[in-house]
Amino acid sequence: MAFEGLADRLQNSIQKIKGKGKVTEADVKEMTREVRLALLEADVNFKVVKDFVKRVKERAVGQEVMQSLTPGQQVIKVVKEELTDLMGGEQSKIAVANRPPTVIMMVGLQGAGKTTTTGKLANHLRKEHNKSPLLVAADVYRPAAINQLETLGNQLSMPVFSKGTEANPVDIAQEAIQQAKENHNDYVIIDTAGRLHVDEHLMDELQQIRSTVNPNETFLVVDAMTGQDAVNVAETFNEQLDVTGVVLTKLDGDTRGGAALSIKAVTEKPIKFAGMGEKLDQLEPFHPERMAQRILGMGDVLTLIEKAQAEVDEDQAKELEQKMKDASFTLDDFLEQMGQVRNMGPLDELIGMIPGADKMKGLKNAQIDENQLNHIEAIIQSMTKKEREDPSIMNASRKKRIAKGSGRNVSEVNRLLKQFSDMKKMMKQMTNQKGKKGKKGGFN
Ligand code: GDP
Repeated sequence: MAFEGLADRLQNSIQKIKGKGKVTEADVKEMTREVRLALLEADVNFKVVKDFVKRVKERAVGQEVMQSLTPGQQVIKVVKEELTDLMGGEQSKIAVANRPPTVIMMVGLQGAGKTTTTGKLANHLRKEHNKSPLLVAADVYRPAAINQLETLGNQLSMPVFSKGTEANPVDIAQEAIQQAKENHNDYVIIDTAGRLHVDEHLMDELQQIRSTVNPNETFLVVDAMTGQDAVNVAETFNEQLDVTGVVLTKLDGDTRGGAALSIKAVTEKPIKFAGMGEKLDQLEPFHPERMAQRILGMGDVLTLIEKAQAEVDEDQAKELEQKMKDASFTLDDFLEQMGQVRNMGPLDELIGMIPGADKMKGLKNAQIDENQLNHIEAIIQSMTKKEREDPSIMNASRKKRIAKGSGRNVSEVNRLLKQFSDMKKMMKQMTNQKGKKGKKGGFN
């Protein structure tokens, strides 16, 4: 899970002070000492840590805390607000062109996730904002990069502008914008070349593209897992190219969080998006406050709700409700439901967004449950259509066949069938109760 190590340590450091009815300077000192160590261990920039701890300390022994009725809680609030500020305060949105297309230039080192993020960003713009982006392959040094973008374009059914490896990247970018205007693409996302290390030739080329097409945004893509290296890369790119925003990739694998907490303070450029996995829908707009809450174990209910809304189709939800009411809910519907939940993201990530859930025993090892879901899916998929619709026809030989087909054993098949039947009973009871209350004119 993102920031797991940092979250654990920070939560431990604030735990003691949390419930205190009286907070002394010594308490604050001890807490900030632990917070300092937690941040340093998370590979947060040394100077950033120093400033951060100083601000927390000043505020924590100040009036806003000491005169409060719940000083312990108030200190945590200070930590949360300062963490939020450290990551940029308010969410920073994409700067849009007055007249379309909005041009976004993607820059970054090879392997940071630039091409993947180009596809993810296009997907996000279409899905969330109804836009029609044009993707531009301007990395002419690696044929593989062009192919990769074309493959992404195919997967997304989106146009990709490419002129192979012979053309000049500046010309490519200019022509692409022209084409976008003609074809009414409202966004142009340019995937530029990357290198393993920052070099002069690369910077020259990027500067040329930038000064010619004058993009609305220059997004620097950096790999969060590289910690302070990511921060150094960001500093260099920013000095040479004056980037307008940062996309932090691979946050899903970043247990420490050093880059996320340092980049804004060091470069003064906001983090606009975060990559949370390899799939095309695993890009999240970066909300500093929500991220601070996640780190401090306060959950992130807003993101959870947004994910659910994006995945659940309203018509399907209504149909499902009806099925629950008349008890015609089948194993197929169950499978579909599970699919929707899983589309929202890995379970451990979702659990991290529920306030306090990380404190509940067993939930930390949600990986196990993920496996169980795989088993349940395999079992249902090994059933015939008829069996899924009417599990009452299930006899010993059918169960044996299903167990064999799914690679599970018969007792697991039995357990699933029992759970499903209990679930249906419960649905019946619930809808009956609702009906009764409705008749009485109670609630609706
Ligand atoms: P580029 O060289 O900068 O264009 O990098 P690519 O887009 O080819 O990405 C490099 C690798 O990082 C690929 O294997 C991607 O699937 C992977 N990747 C990119 N973004 C993420 C992310 O947010 N999370 C994870 N886990 N992997 C990512």
